[in-house]
Amino acid sequence: MQNTTPQESLDPQDWEAMRALAHRMTDDVIDYLAGARERPVWQPIPEEVSATFSAPAPSAPSDAESVYQEFQRTIQPYPMATTHPRFWAWYMGNGTALGAFGDLWAATLNSNLGGGNHAPVLVESQVVEWMKSIIGFPAEASGLLVSGGSMANLVGLAVARNIKAGFDIRDEGIIAAPQRLTVYASVEVHSCHRKTVELMGLGKQSLRLIPVNDDYTINLAALETTLAADRAAGMRPICIIGSGGTVNTGAIDDLTALADICQRDDLWFHVDGAIGAIGMLAENVRPSLAGIERADSVALDLHKWMHVPFEAGVALIRYGDAHLKTFSVVPEYLEHGTRGLAGSQHWFSDYGLQLSRHFRALKVWMTVKEHGLARLGRMMARNVEQAHYLAGLIAADPSLELVAPVGLDIVCYRFNPGGLDDAQLNALNGEILIRLQEQGIAAPSSTRLNGRFCIRVAIANYRSTLADFDLLAQETVRIGREIIQ
Ligand SMILES: *Cc1c(COP(=O)(O)O)cnc(C)c1O
Repeated sequence: MQNTTPQESLDPQDWEAMRALAHRMTDDVIDYLAGARERPVWQPIPEEVSATFSAPAPSAPSDAESVYQEFQRTIQPYPMATTHPRFWAWYMGNGTALGAFGDLWAATLNSNLGGGNHAPVLVESQVVEWMKSIIGFPAEASGLLVSGGSMANLVGLAVARNIKAGFDIRDEGIIAAPQRLTVYASVEVHSCHRKTVELMGLGKQSLRLIPVNDDYTINLAALETTLAADRAAGMRPICIIGSGGTVNTGAIDDLTALADICQRDDLWFHVDGAIGAIGMLAENVRPSLAGIERADSVALDLHKWMHVPFEAGVALIRYGDAHLKTFSVVPEYLEHGTRGLAGSQHWFSDYGLQLSRHFRALKVWMTVKEHGLARLGRMMARNVEQAHYLAGLIAADPSLELVAPVGLDIVCYRFNPGGLDDAQLNALNGEILIRLQEQGIAAPSSTRLNGRFCIRVAIANYRSTLADFDLLAQETVRIGREIIQ
């Protein structure tokens, strides 16, 4: 074979030019974050801009400078805008400045967190220890960082399935199950659990959805009835999922009662704490999470209420050995050593699906070290107070209506000036929501509760002030009146 391919590299051809560009990018990042309030919360992407994304991949090189300029023109102005003080859609954090630079360093070091003997592994282990202690998990508990709540829940439910199936499901597969394996959660449980249950081969029918009380928490009597009926019908209940903050209204199930049922019936107790579990750091949230420390597994989402830049979720499992037994496969090319680069017995790839893994722990570690747990908790506590402040504004205005009790930091409301039926109100409030977004005022999202469309304000935002909620209430009424005129 002849050596005809030139000795090129992907390194910058001119390191000083790259340094200058990197300095400018850093300045732009700081300006962007410091100016979060100055921009419209959202703006639609002009067609000529979106058209640029149908171009094919270039074959020839360009230069970093022009790539960056294109980013600034076509991408930077049209993000999801989670950085804005009036971004309250779905449930997302703001990110943190140091967290963003953490990701820059994670990419720069380009370490693979699958395993091995290097400091980034120690960082992830330390972050997992911190999370265990926040939740109140014992020393033998294990955990790993994952992309987010969906993956953290999947890890928990996979261990639950394998431990409680009653046979060697890794070896024989679900086809060997003599009985249907069933999982219980309220109707308000997040949709990711349906994906997981389907993917695990249990089938959607095996996710048994239990009605809720008026406050959107799981109805325990209905749960007991369903458990008994399913057993009588020959099913094998294996797990109960408690919601540590439901996605619609922030309702927290009675986790102590669920832990009692699981203990009595030998079921796995999983808590989906994607929204609320990290609220253990907030004085005005912690008491309502009582019982979470008794869970067999907990899913947390740090890119939500802890504001770590996407993606950052955590799966915690009470029994490290059960966790390991669920996922570990060690082929000869991944042999764990005692010395050298492979010299570690604890490989994160043995605790989840991913082999190659992002060093996402760094942005968590930096965010926690910079701000400390107490301040992070105060950010959450203030959001809860702000949710009740907004509920107060809604109660004080006869044309606004609270559609559900405030749970954690989530407010569901609608404009209801009187004289309109639910179908008309649904259409009206849908239009109000769109205009709030299109006019760049605020970005709540929506949901439907008992068929009623509501504007849903999820305040996981450390930049929001009380004045932002005054504006939301005023503008909702202004737009509502404008539409019905
Ligand atoms: C957001 C959320 C999830 C999914 O988490 P991702 O980080 O989006 O994957 C799961 N459960 C609840 C309750 C959530 O709010």
